[in-house]
Amino acid sequence: MPLKDYLAKALDPLLQRFEDRLEQGGHLRQAQQLRRKQQNWRSYESQTWEHFRSYVKDQWKLRFLIQREAHLQLKHDTLFQQLDKSASASATLVTETESLQNTLQDLNRRIWTVERDMHTVWSNFPDGPLKRAMSANCRNSDWYLSEWLQADCAGVGGCCARGCGCCMRARSSKRSDHRGHCTSECTCCEEARGFKLKFLGSAGNPMAIDFGVKKEDINRPGNSYTKCLINAYVWGL
Ligand SMILES: [Zn+2]
Ligand SMILES: [Zn+2]
Ligand SMILES: [Zn+2]
Repeated sequence: MPLKDYLAKALDPLLQRFEDRLEQGGHLRQAQQLRRKQQNWRSYESQTWEHFRSYVKDQWKLRFLIQREAHLQLKHDTLFQQLDKSASASATLVTETESLQNTLQDLNRRIWTVERDMHTVWSNFPDGPLKRAMSANCRNSDWYLSEWLQADCAGVGGCCARGCGCCMRARSSKRSDHRGHCTSECTCCEEARGFKLKFLGSAGNPMAIDFGVKKEDINRPGNSYTKCLINAYVWGL
């Protein structure tokens, strides 16, 4: 183990106490700066960064599925109202409503699975300044509304480009604690765009998050996409 890494790991408990003291004194920014410094002392560890990548990708997947669920729930509720009003509802309408109910059940299962996956990734996330910083950053429920993440959402055609405020409120009445930026499944974006984006996930999806966490992506000088994304998700500086 290089000396720098050995020292960073040996001093970790002491520095962690110092970070806690800074945070307790209301100096979150300084605590995050200290965590970032410690991370920079350490050599590149692919395992840590792969965990980070999985976590961010799962978080995107969760947003995608919840927005798809909200979209289909709306469609289902509209059809259900039509069924309710007309006694002689067409067989097509009944079949379509039943099919949507099955899809919604399947989505509920998939959302549950992704939430469990995220928990597993987080539980196995290597301890250290990166994990502590991510944890501290997320304690602010508005962390995702950073200027960079809002600009990124607007850049892919998301609601942050408009004044609708969809990213600031709950996406679904069924999941009142879930807020986040747009994916290709956002109903409001689809209306603004005027056409549907037919993607089943992130593959080839222009509204998905795509970034690398190789040594050259992390250590590259200047503000690369990966570095800005890490700042938004981890340091919040
Ligand atoms: Zn949107
Ligand atoms: Zn919107
Ligand atoms: Zn947004």
